[in-house]
Amino acid sequence: MTKYLTADNITFAMANLNQLVFEVTDVCNLQCKYCGYGELYDDHDKREDKMLPTKKAIRLIDYLAEFWKSKINTSAQSVIYISFYGGEPLLNMPFMENKPICHGYMNEHDFQNYVNTQMDFLRKHPEAYQKIMEEVIIV
Ligand code: SF4
Repeated sequence: MTKYLTADNITFAMANLNQLVFEVTDVCNLQCKYCGYGELYDDHDKREDKMLPTKKAIRLIDYLAEFWKSKINTSAQSVIYISFYGGEPLLNMPFMENKPICHGYMNEHDFQNYVNTQMDFLRKHPEAYQKIMEEVIIV
C-alpha cells in the first residue's frame, strides 16, 4: 500500500528541524561554470539579483519557533543549525549584519550559524569579516 506524507509528518519534521538554510541572495561576484546558476547546465537557474529581506527570514523563524517550543519537538539535539547560502551571501550584507538568529529564542534553543562563502569577497573586503565573525562559522 502506498504511504503518503501526512500533515502530522510535516508538523513533526518542522518541530524537530535541525537545519534551516536561507538562500540569502542569488547574486555572486564570480561566475563559476559549475555553479547552479552557471552555463554548464542547460536548465541552469537565471540570476535575478534577488536579496532576501531580514524580515522575511524572521517571519519564518517566528513561525517555526512555535513548533520548536512545542511538545512535538522530541529531538534529543537542541542545536538548530542555520546556514546562509547564495550566490555569495556576503553580498547581501544588510541581511548578514542582522542575521535573524537570536530573536528571543536563545534561551530555548542553541543556534549555530554557518556562512557558505567562496572567500573571494572576504579577501577583497576584510572589513565584512568583522561584521559577521562573532556568531558564525565560515565554511
Ligand atoms: S562562487 Fe559559488 S555562487 Fe558564486 S558563481 Fe561560483 S559556485 Fe556560484
